[in-house]
Amino acid sequence: MVNTTIKTTKSQEIFTAAQNLMPGGVSSPVRAFKSVGGQPIVFDRVNGAYIWDVDCNKYIDYVGTWGPAICGHAHPEVISALHAALEKGTSFGAPSVLENVLAEMVIDAVPSIEMVRFVNSGTEACMAVLRLMRAFTNREKIIKFEGCYHGHADMFLVKAGSGVATLGLPDSPGVPKSATSSTLTAPYNDLEAVKALFEENRDQIAGVILEPVVGNAGFIPPDAGFLEGLRELTHEHGALLVFDEVMTGFRIAYGGAQEKFGITPDLTTMGKVIGGGLPVGAYGGRRDIMSMIAPAGPVYQAGTLSGNPLAMTAGIKTLELLQKPGTYEQLERITKKLADGLLKVAQETGHAACGSHISAMFGLFFTSGPVHNYEDAKKSDTTKFGRFHRGMLERGIYLAPSQFEAGFTSLAHTDEDIEQTLAAAKDVLSSL
Ligand code: PMP
Repeated sequence: MVNTTIKTTKSQEIFTAAQNLMPGGVSSPVRAFKSVGGQPIVFDRVNGAYIWDVDCNKYIDYVGTWGPAICGHAHPEVISALHAALEKGTSFGAPSVLENVLAEMVIDAVPSIEMVRFVNSGTEACMAVLRLMRAFTNREKIIKFEGCYHGHADMFLVKAGSGVATLGLPDSPGVPKSATSSTLTAPYNDLEAVKALFEENRDQIAGVILEPVVGNAGFIPPDAGFLEGLRELTHEHGALLVFDEVMTGFRIAYGGAQEKFGITPDLTTMGKVIGGGLPVGAYGGRRDIMSMIAPAGPVYQAGTLSGNPLAMTAGIKTLELLQKPGTYEQLERITKKLADGLLKVAQETGHAACGSHISAMFGLFFTSGPVHNYEDAKKSDTTKFGRFHRGMLERGIYLAPSQFEAGFTSLAHTDEDIEQTLAAAKDVLSSL
């Protein structure tokens, strides 16, 4: 019999105090567990596939600090490389050879990237890429997709995913109309809608930006032909295609979704895995476009901590670990076992459900589906998801605290972890 009562006294005390100190008690909204109910657990440490909270409860973790922990948390080789780097100082604010090393690794791996610029977050990468798209094409309008999240810059807070979707927020107050008037949106996987936007806005669209596999409206893969269709449409209209691979980069495949699906965009944004758990973002792409970035060209973008030696070190070591033979086969195998298992358990226990995975990213919706876009995803029973989430947490399984986030596995997850997770899911779903 699984023990379903966990003591979370310290978590509660700390989170109660935090609410007085920081808006909602958190540094980023989804962490507050608003959409799943109950108090968040407060972490004490992470290692491998596991996290421990301040009350000493242990959980199998499928959030992986929202994606970076693909080798498992606190991988000993990453930690020891960081120890060595730390001895040399925490920040240079000047060129270092570490930037060359990581840049070469990213350029070698990601088909679209001929030159790269490092920043500190996915948000920054997407903000910069938007400026670059507009500068290169001398056009202002962009197309994004409903439920896709590209960070919290004004121009992208239009029908956005992630926390915006989780909290059911309208397009955020404080964003001036002028900032979003050039942001056009279409439903994901709807090529006809994109075609119509191009027709209605001839010679005005700088480009199309998307998550090539959606993780911020729950997990939604691209339909066959969707990415190809976008590549053709953007070519036809002299617009740029931008893959936001902040989540999918080095996760869907070593070279990201663009390698997996064989579609090469003009520009790519990255983050998460390439920082190995330290704050990093990056954008890159065609040399002729990237050459417009200052000081090579006139498009301004800068950062005090950009290319930070600790972040570069963690990124380099993480990518080295991912290069080992068998990495992506293992991630695929373990994730398939989990995703197929969760769906089977949900269906066997009588719940309408659908879900899937690609490589180390997975999702489960409480709707019979199919889910092709954000409108479909919203049909999921989020109240049921909240109860499922709480039940899993009580059984030592930490899932993303929102229906509208993808799940992440790592090289540290074992078959036993997956089996324990599926047993917990069966227990919870039988009782819902
Ligand atoms: N783009 C995508 C696809 C993301 O998933 C995220 C974050 N989850 C971002 C951009 C923003 O990245 P950050 O949180 O590092 O600013």
